[in-house]
Amino acid sequence: MNTDRSARLFERARAVIPGGVNSPVRAFSGVGGTPRFIAHGEGATMVDEDGNRYIDLVGSWGPLIFGHGRHEVLEAASEALRHGSSFGAPAAGEVALAEAIVDAVDSVEKVRLTNSGTEAGMTAVRLARGATGRSKLLKFVGHYHGHADALLVSAGSGVATLGIPGSPGVTEGAVSDTILVPWNDRDAVAAVVAEHGDDLAAILAEPVAANMNLVPPDPGFLGFLREQADACGAVLVFDEVITGFRLARGGAQQLHGVAADLTVMGKVVGGGFPLAALGGPAELMDHLAPDGPVYQSGTLSGNPVAVAAGRAQLELLTPAVYEHLEHAARTVADGFQTALDAAGVPATVTRHATLAGVVFADSAPRRFEDVAAADHAAYGRFFHAMLERGVYLAPSGYEVLFPSAALDAETLEQIVDAAHGAAEQVARGR
Ligand SMILES: *Cc1c(COP(=O)(O)O)cnc(C)c1O
Repeated sequence: MNTDRSARLFERARAVIPGGVNSPVRAFSGVGGTPRFIAHGEGATMVDEDGNRYIDLVGSWGPLIFGHGRHEVLEAASEALRHGSSFGAPAAGEVALAEAIVDAVDSVEKVRLTNSGTEAGMTAVRLARGATGRSKLLKFVGHYHGHADALLVSAGSGVATLGIPGSPGVTEGAVSDTILVPWNDRDAVAAVVAEHGDDLAAILAEPVAANMNLVPPDPGFLGFLREQADACGAVLVFDEVITGFRLARGGAQQLHGVAADLTVMGKVVGGGFPLAALGGPAELMDHLAPDGPVYQSGTLSGNPVAVAAGRAQLELLTPAVYEHLEHAARTVADGFQTALDAAGVPATVTRHATLAGVVFADSAPRRFEDVAAADHAAYGRFFHAMLERGVYLAPSGYEVLFPSAALDAETLEQIVDAAHGAAEQVARGR
């Protein structure tokens, strides 16, 4: 596979962009090799600068639930653009998008739009703290809520450690109120609530963890979080940036029947444009400025082009689409497991509704340490073997597979065929 043009672009990029990329995971650091510079996308596939075609199982990290260039979404964005790119004043589309979100997610009565999931998560924390007058946060090890300081906390040791900064530049002060707890650990949550409950502003969780590979909640765990939050008066924040509109129209909350207080949304809701959202009951959301004292704003928030794309994408998300997405996820997950088993490669594929993830370990992970202990070198070999066969997986063993609705019988078969070849290649140790 010729990657000369990507390699040359990467070299040029590294001279003028830190690491050559505008978001770290794109640099292929976790798997090695040359990041592919993408020239265009079409349906289930994307094509790089050297003309190599890949079936895409990343979908821009989640937003492209219909694959690349879905006609209705692009048309809506183009039509909006003809009326202007930004107004800095309210526009009708924002109201319609907020109404669509309120209609889809049961726990949400009001919505504030932002440009990124990071902003929405940061706003959720400020709002939870502002509304409760409390300062501490309970966060799960390995859950990702964007790169705001208070939430960028690395894995601590022990059952519930006080956070240590996850990056240089994050002060100890910024994370000293962030308490880390292992995912799926009821005792650890209960211990934090018992000790810090009166000072706990929020319990934050990805309701289905999807930034430490794919780790669903144990049965009843989300309901347990709901009870614990209620018991101490903390705000329960579900970060549904990945799971929202992807696992089901109403997100993980709908799938698991547990309502959050605040819901962070992004990715799918923006239709492939920079748009994210924070939603919740009016009583909480009305603490935000201008009605309330908790400040939050954005020059391009509710951008009309992004809003139009988001609306169009949400309108297309019918029950039949979720059935198809689940079929695609099941086909990929079963195909991967069968291929890896047949080749004798120790690996476990997890599927949860429309998402899937593969770890090179003997059993399904239940918490971050299990994912960290998996064979990431084997993931790297599988990744490159798939890439050579024209299937683009996430370039890191900590990420999930994002099947799109653009996958059809033919592309699904190609993915599974590639997995058999790739698994054999991994087994041969090449
Ligand atoms: C991607 C992601 C974010 C951050 O969203 P950005 O738009 O990248 O800032 C937050 N939370 C979760 C669960 C995510 O997957």
